[in-house]
Amino acid sequence: MSTSTSTVFDRLTGGSQLRSLLIDAATAARSGSVTHAWLFTGAPGSGRTVAARALAAGLVCTSEVPGCGECQACRTALAGNHPDVELIQPQELTTGVKFARDVVEKAHTLPTSAPWRVVIFEDADRMTESASNVLLKSVEEPPSRTVFMLCAPSTHPRDILPTIVSRCRHVYVPVPSNDDVAALLVAEGGVSEHDAALAAAASVGHIGRARHLAHNIVAQQRRAQVLGLAELIYHGDLAFQEVGVLFTKIEAEVDQRLEPIEASEKEKLQTAMGGGMKGKRVASLRSSLNAAEKELEATHKKRRTRQKRDALDLALVDFAGIYRDALITATGAGIGLTHPDMEGLSREIASRHPAEAIVTCIDAIMKTRELFGQNVRPVVALDSMVGRIRLALGVR
Ligand SMILES: [Zn+2]
Repeated sequence: MSTSTSTVFDRLTGGSQLRSLLIDAATAARSGSVTHAWLFTGAPGSGRTVAARALAAGLVCTSEVPGCGECQACRTALAGNHPDVELIQPQELTTGVKFARDVVEKAHTLPTSAPWRVVIFEDADRMTESASNVLLKSVEEPPSRTVFMLCAPSTHPRDILPTIVSRCRHVYVPVPSNDDVAALLVAEGGVSEHDAALAAAASVGHIGRARHLAHNIVAQQRRAQVLGLAELIYHGDLAFQEVGVLFTKIEAEVDQRLEPIEASEKEKLQTAMGGGMKGKRVASLRSSLNAAEKELEATHKKRRTRQKRDALDLALVDFAGIYRDALITATGAGIGLTHPDMEGLSREIASRHPAEAIVTCIDAIMKTRELFGQNVRPVVALDSMVGRIRLALGVR
C-alpha cells in the first residue's frame, strides 16, 4: 500500500521529469497561473490518462500540498467522479461534431466547488476533422476557469489536428517498464507483488490491461484459456472447437459488461427527456424521445462491435505471446517472458519446433488480427489461424 506521504504524482510511472512538470503546474495554479490546454501523448496504456487525472487532482485538491492524494477532492478526481473533473471517454471508433459540441458545452460550465473545471478528453484522436474544428475553437479561447486535457497516442497529424497541438502544452508520457507497472499496481493496493509482476509482464507495459488482469478473475480465466490453446493445437479437432467456444465467450462477456451500462444510459436519457410527464406536451416529447433512443441504440451497437473486436484482438496478443516466449527461449535472447507462469509450455514448444516454424505461428496470429479489421467473420479467421498454426508445426 502507498504510504500516507505519497501524493498523486508519486504514483506516476512516467519518470521524475514528468512528475516535476506536473507538480510545478499544480503549484502554479494555486496562484492563479494555469495552462488552459494540455495534450498528453503516449501509447495506449502508457498512463497518459493517469497522468492527466493526477494533474486534475492537483488542480482541484483542497489540501496545502496540491495533489495530496488523501483529500476528498483528490480521491474523487482520481476515481473519475469529482463534480468539476469531466472525464470524457469516447466509446465509438470515431467521434463526430455532436460529440465535440457536448464536450465544448461541458467545458463552458463553471466549476461548482473547485477553482477549475477540468475536462479530460481521452482518445481525442478518434475525433473526425470537423469535430476537431469544433473543439479547436474552444481550445483556442478557453473559458477562464476551464482546463482542457486532451489525450492521444502522438502529436502526428494522423492523431490530432496540428492547429490543436499548437494551442496545447504538450506532455509526453513514455511507455512504462514492467517493473513500473507492477509497482503502480502494488501501490494502488489489493494485489500481491507476485500477481502484480505477472499481470505487468502479461500486459506488456499496458497499465489498464495489467490492472484489469490483476483484479478480475474472469480476465484471468480467459487468459488461461487463450494460452491453453497453444497446448490444444496438438490435439486434433479440440483446437478448432476451443476457438469457437472462446469466441462465443469473449463476445458474451462484452455483452454482459455493457448491458447494465446501456440500460442506465437509456434510463438517463428517458429522465432527461421528461419521462413520466403527463399532459399535452407528451406527444411531441415522445417523438423526440424515440429519435434520441434510436440514436442511442446505434451508438450502443457501434460500441459493442468495437469492444468485441478489441477483446478478440487482445486475446490474440496474449496468444502470440506464448510463441514469442518460445522464440525467446529458443534463441536464448535473454529478455523477459510475456507469460512467465507458462514457461513450461513455451519451453516445450521451443524444444519441439525450429524457430522458423514458431515465427510462422506468430505471423498467422498477426495476420488474423489484421483480418478482424476487415470484413471477415472472426470465427472464420480464427479457424483458418488454427489451421495455419497446425500446418506450420507439422501437426496432423
Ligand atoms: Zn488532495
